[in-house]
Amino acid sequence: MVLKKIAIYGKGGIGKSTTVSNMAAAFDGLTFVIGCDPKADTTRTLVGERIPTILDTMRENRNCSLEDIEFDGYNNTHCVESGGPEPGVGCAGRGVIVAMQLLDKLGAFDDDPDVVMYDVLGDVVCGGFSVPLRDEYADEVYIVTSGEYMSLYAANNIAKGIEKLNGKLGGVICNCRNVDREVEIVTEFAQRISSRVIGVVPRSDLVQKSEYQAKTVIESFPESQQADIYRKLICDIMENDDISTPKPMGVEEFEDFFFSYV
Ligand code: ADP
Ligand code: MG
Repeated sequence: MVLKKIAIYGKGGIGKSTTVSNMAAAFDGLTFVIGCDPKADTTRTLVGERIPTILDTMRENRNCSLEDIEFDGYNNTHCVESGGPEPGVGCAGRGVIVAMQLLDKLGAFDDDPDVVMYDVLGDVVCGGFSVPLRDEYADEVYIVTSGEYMSLYAANNIAKGIEKLNGKLGGVICNCRNVDREVEIVTEFAQRISSRVIGVVPRSDLVQKSEYQAKTVIESFPESQQADIYRKLICDIMENDDISTPKPMGVEEFEDFFFSYV
């Protein structure tokens, strides 16, 4: 039985894939990791290299099988990447729709993973990028943000998308960029949208070091504090039952909130 299906949303470049891949590497059980970002690099540090995306594979073979798109990664992870259209052609989110339909059709979920993790680009929660939010896919969403304006702005928009679709938010993950009063800002942000901070991930150069080896921090530096932080984060998420529909801020409230810190 699947224990949890979680979706991680956040602005591009904020640290979603790093967080997802490290949590998947830290979790003891079968984890199904689904990259839903045209960047298609969620699973690189789990598998050790970039894997072919579902969209690219389908372009060559419309009748591809599960073995063509699903790859085994570190510590009992099954990895897929939705991929995206060629730049300038078509809508990025459509890749997610096509990928999800194919995964359903091929019975990708029949292996009975313990956890399913979606890594979703959330600058806009439209079309395809909202698919993992729908009931049959993720049970709960986590938003990754730093204390920076653009990342919080995107996080508030994601909260709007979740509210619209009647989705459930499990909490906010603060991935630090070392701005002043960062944890304070993100904590207040989470409260203002009727949620809470479920984890604070410090900035660490072990993230880059392990990334250069195409590995997670968990695999490259298992004894490090950073590895412990990802282990604790996935434990806290697995135990979390405090989930609810967020209440996003209006434009003015958001500006007032943010600029009271600068
Ligand atoms: P996203 O998936 O949201 O686009 P990534 O996970 O790919 O973002 O992270 C973007 C960049 O930030 C990567 O180069 C990654 O190494 C770096 N990064 C992410 N989290 C941390 C962290 N906690 N400490 C240091 N660098 C980080
Ligand atoms: Mg990513």
